[in-house]
Amino acid sequence: MNKEELKEYFEENEELQEKVSKLADMIRNANHVVIYTGAGISTSAGIPDFRGPNGVWTCRDQGRKKPRSKKPWNLLEPTYGHMSIAKLIDVGVAKYLVSQNVDGLHVHSGVPLDKLSELHGNTNKEYCIDCQKEYFRPFSCRNARRVNDHRTGRMCEECGGELHDSIINFNENLNKDHLNRAFEHSVKCDLAIVLGTSLRVDPAASLPLVPVKLRRGKLVICNLQKTPKDHYASLILHGKTDQILKMLMKELGIEVKSFKEVIMEKAQLIENKKKEKKKNQKNKVQKQVNEKEKNEKKSSNTKSKSNPKMKPKSSKTLTKKPKKK
Ligand SMILES: [Zn+2]
Repeated sequence: MNKEELKEYFEENEELQEKVSKLADMIRNANHVVIYTGAGISTSAGIPDFRGPNGVWTCRDQGRKKPRSKKPWNLLEPTYGHMSIAKLIDVGVAKYLVSQNVDGLHVHSGVPLDKLSELHGNTNKEYCIDCQKEYFRPFSCRNARRVNDHRTGRMCEECGGELHDSIINFNENLNKDHLNRAFEHSVKCDLAIVLGTSLRVDPAASLPLVPVKLRRGKLVICNLQKTPKDHYASLILHGKTDQILKMLMKELGIEVKSFKEVIMEKAQLIENKKKEKKKNQKNKVQKQVNEKEKNEKKSSNTKSKSNPKMKPKSSKTLTKKPKKK
């Protein structure tokens, strides 16, 4: 990439606000919004992008030391951007999410798996090459040293097959299921919103153009750099994705909780459920005790009523067989 392509643009707040209002109107008028994300959505989580001025490939091409993630991958948390996308999908404003990122943060943020295509894989996901069962781990699944070797060394709990990491390297085929779903939604899409990608890797870069090429919808690009697909876009916003999404969610009147808040709420919910279960069990036992006492009282009342003078015979006397003489 040349100097001009690497340049990042930051629009003034006022200009950005005006564009965000336009974007909110486009969203309100659309039926099938699809969001397409790239590395730019995860930079605020501490993961370096690829083609920014200090991106992984920019540094490599310039002979500089490659930047590293600020935290170990298993400690990375979804950002405001991830959480707002999850919310847009949760409330039905956006119908589908297509991501080029492998950091797994969209899954962490709560986007349902059937509403997400991770075109280049997910570092936390490994799958069985025999039965295709998928496993999500709290750690990076990649163990292999050679680029095209994907064995993780673990085995499938269902069928014993070999597990492979789900990372797609250059020149490797994309996961058919994820690609097909991304394509189906891109065909249905009438508003494609691109967030934080310079749209330079195919087929990921071509999918958001589908609605424009089919003359079914529009394309909006939110990215710091210009992209080679800008001439297809009806609206281009140059700003950080977190900032744009904050403005957009405010404009749409949608509240977004942080990842920590959501986790705390989930933990509270689990705690409440445990307490409720314990309480129910206690009540059940108490009810059984009450019921037993009530029945005993009832039976002793009936006996004393039918023959108030007669003392109840012991069970021994009743069951004793007459002795043989
Ligand atoms: Zn299997």
